[in-house]
Amino acid sequence: MSNTSTLTSQNDPTSSWWHKTVSTAPSFLPLDGNRQCDVAIIGGGFSGLWSALYIKRAQPELSVVVLEKDYLGYGASGRNGGWCMGASTPEVADYDAIQPGGGLRMEHTMYDTVDEVARMCGEFGIDCDYHKGGILYYAPSERSMNTINETVAGYRDAGITDRDFYTLNPNEMARHLRIEGTHGALYTPHGAVINPYKLVVGIARAAAELGVEIFEHSGATGFGPHCVEVGAHRVDASVIIKCTEGYSVQLPGYERSVAPVYSYMIATEPLSDAFWDRAGLDDRPAFADYTMMPLYAQRTKDNRIAIGGLAVQYYWNSRITHKTLNEHPAHRLLEKKLHQLFPWCSEFKVARRWGGLMGLPRDFMPSVGYDESTGFAWAGGYFGEGVAATNLGARIVRDLVLKQDTPLVHLPWVNHQSPRWEPEPVRMIGAGGIPKLMRLADVLDEKGMHRSRTLLDRLIGQFGII
Ligand SMILES: Cc1cc2nc3c(=O)[nH]c(=O)nc-3n(C[C@H](O)[C@H](O)[C@H](O)COP(=O)(O)OP(=O)(O)OC[C@H]3O[C@@H](n4cnc5c(N)ncnc54)[C@H](O)[C@@H]3O)c2cc1C
Repeated sequence: MSNTSTLTSQNDPTSSWWHKTVSTAPSFLPLDGNRQCDVAIIGGGFSGLWSALYIKRAQPELSVVVLEKDYLGYGASGRNGGWCMGASTPEVADYDAIQPGGGLRMEHTMYDTVDEVARMCGEFGIDCDYHKGGILYYAPSERSMNTINETVAGYRDAGITDRDFYTLNPNEMARHLRIEGTHGALYTPHGAVINPYKLVVGIARAAAELGVEIFEHSGATGFGPHCVEVGAHRVDASVIIKCTEGYSVQLPGYERSVAPVYSYMIATEPLSDAFWDRAGLDDRPAFADYTMMPLYAQRTKDNRIAIGGLAVQYYWNSRITHKTLNEHPAHRLLEKKLHQLFPWCSEFKVARRWGGLMGLPRDFMPSVGYDESTGFAWAGGYFGEGVAATNLGARIVRDLVLKQDTPLVHLPWVNHQSPRWEPEPVRMIGAGGIPKLMRLADVLDEKGMHRSRTLLDRLIGQFGII
């Protein structure tokens, strides 16, 4: 057990509401000497923990070590919106562009991944409030509904069926969610909601029980072929797996591998039965608006709304700081949005405000790979869609390092190399400025200023970021 002065999910002032729901998370001692093992994993979020669990489960004789810089779930995995979604950020066409036919394969594999998470939770007795109620993307404007219709037409061309994604008119949508001013919605059954920190803790417990050695407060300070440095100590391993997502920019050589971008969330106090009778969400679908800079939300198992999005934050020169996580203008936007969606509700009380760090690859493409000659593997680049995707990434990593020729190791993510981000100030414009323009485009849409919005779309498109 770690001593009381160390940072934990319970005493971290910037922790999420999810962290607060688990007062009995196990803690793990820091690394206190040199180690030798078969597999060393850097990063104790979903990516690192799923990788450890899958590898150890497949080959129990292997010694597997997880090194976490702070506490498990300190990164995005303990702070996200809890959408376990059958999707990743790129579109089918983006995948097809790097691997013909790869788009539809990715799509179906991601759908299956939502169920794989549930299966693993069942196998290891992990209670993370998993509930598969699908995902509803509502259209806040006529333009947004038109975009949904175009998207669905594109889906059909790509082979995505009307069982996988379909539109709802406003009356049909009201059976799921009743909010002000919608023009219909896009619905997919391929989504579940979870409490992400409960999942982190559950995977960690399962991995530890199988014999994975976990070290918290043991940040890698450098690594090379078959070796990780952790301050004065070193871990020698046949395979090293880097799972550090947005924090990768702090590692030597990875400064421009992703842009570290923050997203923010709030959770309300539990809402009354009267509220839910009027608002809906009986089957707890995850919900979002279909916009450029969307909100994302869920009805939690204990009847709160956990909502995030609408704005992101990138700091100059990829600076990483958790200091502003609990106090950011995005929190006020989110509160305002709740009142806009449910103007008849006077019971909203914010229980917690927080934020978390995502890793944005320059081409939005996740990447999972393994270089056998150096024993170096990696998984990451999920941006805001990593809850389910990290599970898939971990299974790919398992198959790569265990040299299993499965369909997973032929997916378009495998050994993909995203281009590096530009140096400043271009990176600031791309990762910091463009999202602000995207938010402005949504506001123009809300106000019906279509001409200005069209001009803005062209400007945003110029940067090649959407
Ligand atoms: C606010 C927010 C909302 C989101 N909502 C959703 C959502 O609803 N659905 C969805 O699919 N995705 C969502 N995401 C994205 C999703 O959370 C991430 O893609 C996913 O959690 C990434 O997991 P990871 O393990 O790769 O990275 P992380 O969870 O960030 O884990 C990386 C870990 O590595 C550790 N680390 C860093 N450097 C070192 C080092 N040198 N040595 C050792 N350890 C190190 C960090 O402390 C951290 O614990 C959201 C993200 C945020 C921030």
